[in-house]
Amino acid sequence: MSEILSSNLTYLKPSETVAISAETKRRQALGEDIVDLSVGEPDFDTPKAAAEAGIAAIQKGYTRYPPNIGIPELRAAVARNLSLMSGGRALNPDQIVISSGSKQSIFNACFSLFGPKDKVLIPSPAWVSYPQIVHLCRAEPVAVPGDPEWGLKVSVKDLERKYDKLVKGLILCSPCNPTGATYTATEIKAIAGWARDHGVWIIADEIYRRIYYGNGPAPSLLDLPDEYLEKVVLIYGAAKAYAMTGWRIGVAYAPMPVAKAMAALQSQTTTGANHPAQWAAATAFVDEAVERDVQKMVAAFHLRRDRVVERFRQEAPGVEFVEPTGAFYFFFRVDGVTPGHDCTGTVFCEQVMAAGVAMVPGAAFGDDHWVRMSYAASDKDLDTALERLFGLIRRLGARAA
Ligand code: GLU
Repeated sequence: MSEILSSNLTYLKPSETVAISAETKRRQALGEDIVDLSVGEPDFDTPKAAAEAGIAAIQKGYTRYPPNIGIPELRAAVARNLSLMSGGRALNPDQIVISSGSKQSIFNACFSLFGPKDKVLIPSPAWVSYPQIVHLCRAEPVAVPGDPEWGLKVSVKDLERKYDKLVKGLILCSPCNPTGATYTATEIKAIAGWARDHGVWIIADEIYRRIYYGNGPAPSLLDLPDEYLEKVVLIYGAAKAYAMTGWRIGVAYAPMPVAKAMAALQSQTTTGANHPAQWAAATAFVDEAVERDVQKMVAAFHLRRDRVVERFRQEAPGVEFVEPTGAFYFFFRVDGVTPGHDCTGTVFCEQVMAAGVAMVPGAAFGDDHWVRMSYAASDKDLDTALERLFGLIRRLGARAA
């Protein structure tokens, strides 16, 4: 293969989250009884008003090329949505670029900013695609290990330890995929101040901002004064909180020269995001009935989070985990489930798959002591999965003892 393919792909591996979910669907189609807690995808339907806006857009003939940067209605809706979450801060819609999912928004941002010899700091564990995207830019991803005592988050000290003059960027995900940990307003300010003082760009992945178990939306870079935002690209989108994963609508809010570069880049690649889906998202971001649906979905994720945490405490008391404050992931440590014989996340996930539950090994996120479980699944599926999971943990513990 290496003789055929270009050196652009030297480091490329397929996304593990996407691969595990595809494999699970394949097995389910063959009749296997597997609960899928692998991919981060809400089990809810897209809110009705948003779906209907997409259908109406098709019927009205919005089926031709969209404006490359995104329809003005959607960019205005995003500006309003983000502004409402951030104390009324004014956002210039011209700095908002709509792409085919926030993964493409992150790619566009990284490809526009980073290149050969640049280093990009990535707090670890990290979502599978960040290091891959940085490699595709021919830049170097540098993992910054998070502190296990602190929800696997990083501090300014951790960043400083990995910093050198080649560092041009930092990808910060909060609420975090895969851990569910959320940086506080104070922590965000400290990191943003550190980045500003070092001239480091922040790609702030806030796709899970609405799915937060504190008050209101999670703390954001957008809560900071302008002086902190000169080198920030904020990533947002419709997929997670609005249950619109398949519509593929991602959002970036970037300083004007970067927004222009990102738009030019996608004018040469995708010619903009799916046109009817943009109309659906334009409704999603501002419609009051959709907002009520979002609040209900977040409340349901909150209850599931509480149940998972509670049941782990009761039924797997020795298992360490990050207590999630946002997103819909539960990240737990598996090297201790076989006392005296370390178990890896990869081995654990093979065994839990055999027991009928799909999860993602920590190796996919940079640390195979852990396993990620998505609790964006129905209560019934979640209960079945937890029974199978705790059964396996008990068996592994008994076998090792
Ligand atoms: N972001 C989700 C996850 O981590 C969706 C799949 C993907 O694109 O990675 O599961």
